[in-house]
This record gives sequence, C-alpha cells and structure tokens, in this order.
Amino acid sequence: MVTKKQRTTRTIRGKVKEVAFPTGETWWTFYCPGCKHGHTINNTWDFDGNYEAPTFSPSVLTYGSPWEERRCHSFVRSGHIEFLSDCTHELAGQTTALPPLPKRLSQ
Ligand SMILES: [Zn+2]
Repeated sequence: MVTKKQRTTRTIRGKVKEVAFPTGETWWTFYCPGCKHGHTINNTWDFDGNYEAPTFSPSVLTYGSPWEERRCHSFVRSGHIEFLSDCTHELAGQTTALPPLPKRLSQ
C-alpha cells in the first residue's frame, strides 16, 4: 500500500516564505513595505521560482480588514514591488526593492 505524503512543509528562502500543503496547494508570503505586513498568495498565481528576486503574476490586490479602508495593489517582478497608483498607502505609484522577510514572518 502506498502512503500519500501528508505533511505540510514550510520553507523560508530568500524573500519568500513557502507553505506547501499535502493537498497540492502552496502559499507564498512576501513582505509588503507599503502595508508593513506580509501578503500571502496561493498557487493560483504564477511564481517563477526565484526566491531571492521573485516574480509573481498577475498583480496582487489586497484590501484591509472590514474596519479599515485600505487597498494595496502591486506587481512583484524580479525582486521589486511596483505599487500601482490605486494603493491607499504612502508608496502608491512607487517601485521599491522587495525587503527581506522580517523575523516575525520567518517562522
Ligand atoms: Zn501591501
């Protein structure tokens, strides 16, 4: 009898935290310097596999909690995060290098 892989694996590499579930779903987390917290996407996005200078597509659009009016819309390309002008934070319209994962996200 073949046993299926049931373990969830967590990997911190470069600027990306990767959580791979036995179901085949994968989550990737990067740190957003505009929102000052991590954004997590799953493998319905494309990831080029470059953990040091990742590219995710398509763009990542997030909203704040129901009690906070917030919008963050960005492209992550080659280790840079390009904020579109419809972001509500101070980095709207700017491109910045993707920072390393802060310690609180690296666990
Ligand atoms: Zn953000």
